[in-house]
Amino acid sequence: MKRDEWARETAAQLRQAHKAELKRWPQLELEIWLRDDCRCVYCFRDMLQDFIITYHAYCYEHLLPEERYKDLATVSWNKVLACRDCNARKGRFDPAGSDIPPTVESRDRLVERVRDYIRPSRIRDEALYLQEREVLRSALMLWKSG
Ligand SMILES: [Zn+2]
Repeated sequence: MKRDEWARETAAQLRQAHKAELKRWPQLELEIWLRDDCRCVYCFRDMLQDFIITYHAYCYEHLLPEERYKDLATVSWNKVLACRDCNARKGRFDPAGSDIPPTVESRDRLVERVRDYIRPSRIRDEALYLQEREVLRSALMLWKSG
């Protein structure tokens, strides 16, 4: 069984068996979460790691930007589970091109191209964050020791 079909069927079964627990989860959203392994498709962040991530740090990202692909704006394969950070880094980047067509068959390759696009800015920010965190922690250590 293909992942998309499995996600659709499982979402329907879960919604039936767990009506009370899953009332915040419309069918289509549950399908997307299951299909995408409950992880950000770009950085693999576990979107179930805590309730703040699960409820506030996710988005349904348009793999192919909706302003350019209006007919794909509501198509489920073009909506991927992503964290807000990846969504912001991607912006309006269009992963399709002459080598990768904007089709469902190319979905995995389109996602991979977005990962490649996002990676350098994430690495830069992470390095900066580690430096800044060290400066702030050192300042606190000085305060607490003085
Ligand atoms: Zn992410």
